[in-house]
Amino acid sequence: MGFFDSLKNFKNQIDHIESSVYNGKQSLLELYERNARLEEEIAARTKELDTANRQMLTLQHIWDMMNSSKPLSSVLNATVSSLQGELGYLHSCIAKRLVDNEGDYLQLVACSGDLFGDKFFNYFKCEPSDLRLKFPDIEALPGAIDGKKIYQSTDILNLVKRVLPNLQDDIAMNFALETKAKSFILVPLSYNHSHFGSLVVFSTRENATENELNFLNLFAKQIELAITIADLFQAVKEQAVTDGMTGLYNRRYFEEFIKKESIRSKRQNQKFTVIGIDLDHLKKINDLYGHNYGDIAIKAIAEVLKTNGRSIDVAARMGGEEFNVILPGVDSAGGLVVAERIRKAVEAVNLEKIGHITASLGVATYIEHSDDVDELLELVDHAMYESKRNGRNRVTLAKPISETSWQEVAIDTFMDILSKHRIPLDIKTSKMLTNKLQEMNINNEMLYQVSDALIKTYNPEHTQNGTKQKVQLASLLAKRFDLPKENIDKLKIAVLLYDIGNTMLPKELLGKKEPLTEEDKQSIKQHPVIAAREILEPISNVVDIIPIIEKHHENWNGTGYPNKISGENIPIESQIILIVDSYCALLENRPYRPAMSKEEALNTIKGDANNKWSEKLADEFVSIVQNELN
Ligand code: GH3
Ligand code: MG
Repeated sequence: MGFFDSLKNFKNQIDHIESSVYNGKQSLLELYERNARLEEEIAARTKELDTANRQMLTLQHIWDMMNSSKPLSSVLNATVSSLQGELGYLHSCIAKRLVDNEGDYLQLVACSGDLFGDKFFNYFKCEPSDLRLKFPDIEALPGAIDGKKIYQSTDILNLVKRVLPNLQDDIAMNFALETKAKSFILVPLSYNHSHFGSLVVFSTRENATENELNFLNLFAKQIELAITIADLFQAVKEQAVTDGMTGLYNRRYFEEFIKKESIRSKRQNQKFTVIGIDLDHLKKINDLYGHNYGDIAIKAIAEVLKTNGRSIDVAARMGGEEFNVILPGVDSAGGLVVAERIRKAVEAVNLEKIGHITASLGVATYIEHSDDVDELLELVDHAMYESKRNGRNRVTLAKPISETSWQEVAIDTFMDILSKHRIPLDIKTSKMLTNKLQEMNINNEMLYQVSDALIKTYNPEHTQNGTKQKVQLASLLAKRFDLPKENIDKLKIAVLLYDIGNTMLPKELLGKKEPLTEEDKQSIKQHPVIAAREILEPISNVVDIIPIIEKHHENWNGTGYPNKISGENIPIESQIILIVDSYCALLENRPYRPAMSKEEALNTIKGDANNKWSEKLADEFVSIVQNELN
């Protein structure tokens, strides 16, 4: 081989090596690129997995909450809170679809607890319940607030202005700029195919991915489930017939049973007896040994009732430490024997730490004492109360109806007022009430209806069962203050009549929306006096309740009217009427303020202790409303 041949050969070899190096480099480059792509994909997948995992945890958290027995509102609040911080969400809330005379609207019912929310409510000085999105604004959010589809918008300013229409533009704009929210998303919530609200989420991003929207839809389903479960739970609770603590029947079942039993007994001309049982000195047991021991004593009474009854007897826990037993087919003599047996059995119980317990019992028999169920139960209550007053640990038989008819006095008084036209009343109402009062077998219910109807003539906001609740509250309070039965009866009549003077006030004055003038106030203040003096004085049966009525606007601290008397100088009956009347009024709408919730009203009552009423009266009142009222 010549030199040139060798050189050519060598060059060929070099070319070959060069091309393989190049090829190798090429594939290495490809490999490297492939690896990089794979890594990117893995990172993206990992992120997706991480997000899915967090979504799962969020949903799991909601599920756990739904399985706990927390009230719906706290479940919903916690549910929306669990969404906050996820996927860059700043705030989430649930708006419920409601309707008033102006049409449908969405109102906030739950909010995630976060800075965005706090800032919003501080900034605009409003409460969640102030925020309403009216349905005429529907064009602004097509398909979203009527529950047709999920909706996202970046126009937060528009939303803020729609829920707070009176807001100045610059304030709304400042807020929209200050928050880092870039968009909001509305997810419809429906139940049984009907739209009941929306989940609203504020996001730090302008757009939402499809996955994200799927997640929000899934989340909304969980909320729908929470609400469905709460509804079912409520339905089951309403159907329950037993008392959870003792296993006896509950009040609801008792009330249904006694109604049916009275119809059956009347038809078959049979008797049945009711025994009321109240544990003595439970408060002392609670105070000395703690609430748990109080519960043990209550359960011990339940055991006695279970072991001392026949299978046809119905024993129920009416609430707290109060029990009733119905003995079908048993007359009062038989009832007394059973009651005495129960009393002895309770006395024989010997509990750890507490020792012996006792109970006070009352007995009344259907038809023998009354053929009206409400009245019968009232008689049982009175009899039981007499047992308490006479030293407890005893049985008392109800007194015959003739000795216990505060109702008769009330009927006579109403009839007198109507027939002698002592108050200005249109003929139709007057006739309707007279007819009611002349019916045979008049019962408490009718009396309450007459009183409610009279109050309605000057107070359109008066609630349907207002008088019944007032009488019930007043007599429960009177018992806490150990008033004898005669005084309680007087008090009940006074509750029916204390505001009768209002019927004499000009209607314009009572419904006046503008602030009252000094003169207006004076004439409204005169009403108890008018009632007492002009209307009732000529009716001999009720002359002795006039002083009670006259003083029912006097305050404990001496700032009331008309005589500015104070403290114990005000008859306890008048103090009771004042607190009962004030509480019931707080629950009603007034031209100058909306109705309060029970909690708000009780707080107001507590707040006025030592001013309008004594602290003891306020405490007893709150305890009655919370524990004894049905
Ligand atoms: P009296 O002999 O006059 O009946 O006195 P008392 O203390 O038993 O009755 P009172 O009506 O003055 O007070 C009842 C107390 O019972 C008030 C309430 O706090 C308590 N109570 C009500 N329900 C329950 C309950 O379920 N468990 C316990 N431990 N206490 C209860
Ligand atoms: Mg008791």
